[in-house]
This record gives sequence, C-alpha cells and structure tokens, in this order.
Amino acid sequence: MSTGESSEPGPQSVTGPRINKGLVIVNTGNGKGKTTAAMGVLFRAWGRDFKVIMLQFIKHSTANFGEQRAAKKIGVEMRAMGDGFTWDTQDRAQDIASTRRAGDEVKRMIADPSYAMVVADELNIVLRYDYLPLSDVLEALAAKPAMTHVVITGRNAPEGLIAVADLVTEMGLVKHPFREQGVKAQAGVEF
Ligand code: ATP
Ligand code: MG
Repeated sequence: MSTGESSEPGPQSVTGPRINKGLVIVNTGNGKGKTTAAMGVLFRAWGRDFKVIMLQFIKHSTANFGEQRAAKKIGVEMRAMGDGFTWDTQDRAQDIASTRRAGDEVKRMIADPSYAMVVADELNIVLRYDYLPLSDVLEALAAKPAMTHVVITGRNAPEGLIAVADLVTEMGLVKHPFREQGVKAQAGVEF
C-alpha cells in the first residue's frame, strides 16, 4: 500500500513488476457521468502532453456544448460526428451510412500510433442500434497499438465489448434531478 508520502502515487500493489499497457476502458450504466468521466481522463492524459482525441457519436457536428467550447479553448481535438443522424425521421439507411463514416474515423484514430488516447463517446449506443457492427470495433481494438488507451462510453455496453475491455465501470443511477424534480438538462452540467 502506498503511504501517500510521494507526490506521484505509484501502483497500489508493489509485489510485481510495474505493467504499463494501453487500456480499453468502458464507461456504461444508467447513471450520469459516463461522458464526463471520459473527458476527465482525456484531460489528465492531455496534461501529460499525450496526443488525445475525442470523437462523439450521436452529437451533431454543429453542437457547441460546454465540452466543445472547452476543447477549442485549450486546443484538444474533439469532433462531434453525428452528421446526418435522423433519429427523428427514422431514416435507418442514412443513419447507418453516417455512423459507418464516423466508425471508420474512430478505427483510423485507434490504428494511428501517434494518438495515446482515443475516446469514442456514445459508441455503445450505435453498437446497440446495430448501426456499426461490434466485430468491426473488436477488430480495431485487437489490432490497436500496444500503448494506446481507448475509452468507450454509452449505456448498454455490449457483452462482447465488456469481455475484451480492461476497465469497465458501470455508473449506477441513485438520484437524478430530472426524475425526482423534473429539472431538465442544464448548461455547464449536462451540456
Ligand atoms: P454526462 O454526459 O453528464 O457524463 P452520461 O454520459 O453518463 O452523462 P448519457 O447516458 O450520455 O449520460 O445521457 C445524456 C444525458 O442524459 C446526461 O446529461 C444525463 O444528465 C441525462 N440523464 C441521465 N440519466 C437520466 C435520467 N434518468 N433522467 C433524465 N435524464 C438523464
Ligand atoms: Mg454520455
């Protein structure tokens, strides 16, 4: 156990050799915090001068939420790629086409050894809709550069993804202000 004396905490276990590896990290569950936790670790990696990128499925490319504003201000690559999504009009063919384009981009980033961390926000959602084949994502993860960290968020992470992931966190819903009080999404907290 660390005594907490060092300003740079080491690994929790000191019994074995230190292992460094690129992790597959999955944030799932019904509670709030999946996307923001991904941003937190992205921020931490960015602080270490790692090359990082966050690709957002679902969110439209014109979205100018707090996270997009922050990313622009500090110079972090963040791309919302939900272009052409027609969740409302139910044009499945178009949704699939735009998701495939976004999926190709994520696969390209994961394969690019210059990126130390790639966040695929809400990827679980498009996997659940079957807009992107899980096998495509699993292939990209299996072939990723050894030190690349990949963070995938969204409810209902598929079992096949959980099976290959190194770190899986399920955010549990205890209370949500919308459910309890009808408080809708607020700037700075939700977007
Ligand atoms: P965040 O982006 O704040 O980290 P998240 O990524 O965990 O949240 P998502 O599942 O992507 O959350 O949902 C998007 C939004 O829906 C969140 O901003 C969250 O506040 C809201 N939300 C989550 N759970 C509920 C709920 N039970 N009722 C209403 N809104 C909810
Ligand atoms: Mg989210």
